[in-house]
Amino acid sequence: MRYKRILLKLSGESLMGSGQYGIDPNRLLQYANEIKAVKEKGVEIAIVIGGGNIFRGVMAEAAGIERVQGDYMGMLATVINGMALQSALEGVGLYTRLMSGIKMEQVCEPFIRRRAIRHLEKGRIVIFGAGIGNPYFTTDSTASLRAIEIQADVVLKGTRVDGVYTADPEKDPTAERYSELSFQEAYERNLNIMDMTAFTLCQENNLPIIVFDMNKPDNLLNILHGENAGTLIT
Ligand code: UDP
Repeated sequence: MRYKRILLKLSGESLMGSGQYGIDPNRLLQYANEIKAVKEKGVEIAIVIGGGNIFRGVMAEAAGIERVQGDYMGMLATVINGMALQSALEGVGLYTRLMSGIKMEQVCEPFIRRRAIRHLEKGRIVIFGAGIGNPYFTTDSTASLRAIEIQADVVLKGTRVDGVYTADPEKDPTAERYSELSFQEAYERNLNIMDMTAFTLCQENNLPIIVFDMNKPDNLLNILHGENAGTLIT
């Protein structure tokens, strides 16, 4: 396996599957099986999950809710997704821990860095919920920060497209996929890989990012086998 410890970032929206809102049980099961296949190869796996399928901070203002309040609502949404993912992973026989950036002891553990690392060493899959616990951040920033904290070898950002393109492949048919890019190139070409906070954290800490299509069967495993199936940013 190409990496020993990975941080997998899944967006909340990816959990909707073909739906418009909420969590699609088939998608959840599909992800659980993809993750299991990688776990069986001995890879240590931490996961950050978004909340966009339930609530995003930016939705708040339209609803007359102040931004910070909305951000906390978004963070709680990621805990709901984390609980769903945890159940799905347990359903396929994996050991898991859900750790939250906001204390909610009846539901999950608080995030404690050393403890998270210990869980990983013991073969548990660690899901980080509630983002970093602060408003005005995103789960992409959470993914970068937690990956650095637990000394992950890579951030694997699962998306709907199979990598970073010269233009939006859903709009421009001539768009081509980069198989590799430097942080500098990505920045200069204004390629939207993650928000700037998340991107800069990875760049400054030499943490590679792979953008890949999480919905293509076996893709996660293939990438860890070293297949050129996404875009590697170093
Ligand atoms: N959020 C936050 N701080 C964090 C992480 C998340 O305030 O550290 C809030 C923010 O409002 C965000 C929402 O939680 O819009 C859901 O996360 P995100 O939009 O990153 O989810 P995704 O787009 O990956 O589904």
